[in-house]
Amino acid sequence: MGKRKSKRKAPTKAKAVEPLETQFNCPFCNHERVCEVKMDRDRNVGFISCRICLEDFQTTINTLSEPIDVYSDWIDACEEANA
Ligand SMILES: [Zn+2]
Repeated sequence: MGKRKSKRKAPTKAKAVEPLETQFNCPFCNHERVCEVKMDRDRNVGFISCRICLEDFQTTINTLSEPIDVYSDWIDACEEANA
């Protein structure tokens, strides 16, 4: 009886080396990846603005905030404004 190597699934680890996404689709003009987020870590403010329609938004961030959080805050604010 030969020993067989049992096939083991390698755990799929998310790579943490990928640069954080800072460009997002614009909810106003619907262009893709035109909204850029800037994180002002000193003042705890996140800015996002669209380079096509120039809509912008800013929100409070904390040390754990990521650009996607600024973007989702913006989307939430847009939805509230439209509600
Ligand atoms: Zn836009």
